[in-house]
Amino acid sequence: MTTDAADAHPDHAALGRAVDEAVELLGYRGHLYTFIVHYRAFPRPQEKFLYVSRENVAGATCPRCGGGEVARYPVLTVGGWRLVVRCQRCLVDLKMEPTPYPWGLSYQSFTTLLPGGSQNKSK
Ligand SMILES: [Zn+2]
Repeated sequence: MTTDAADAHPDHAALGRAVDEAVELLGYRGHLYTFIVHYRAFPRPQEKFLYVSRENVAGATCPRCGGGEVARYPVLTVGGWRLVVRCQRCLVDLKMEPTPYPWGLSYQSFTTLLPGGSQNKSK
């Protein structure tokens, strides 16, 4: 895993290019993960604010506090985006399951890149 040669910061770009050259020279055929820290052309959202909509879950009651204000909405956790059904009073989760990314963003949890992570296919 290294910075990408397309990074706008010269040090990051240089490291990315150096790794690209090393990969080429060594004939490495495994996966190479890169990331960008500085990027000037990232498209800015058109909206003034980004938010997710919360959908009230009618008839649900919180098992912890007995509150009836329960809502369903996506949240970003360390494991990626999840759709939660959460008490709005005490914030206990009644349900949590994987969900597609809101706003069309892509996100890959860092933990999936660690040894044993589901996306790590490096040799
Ligand atoms: Zn509650």
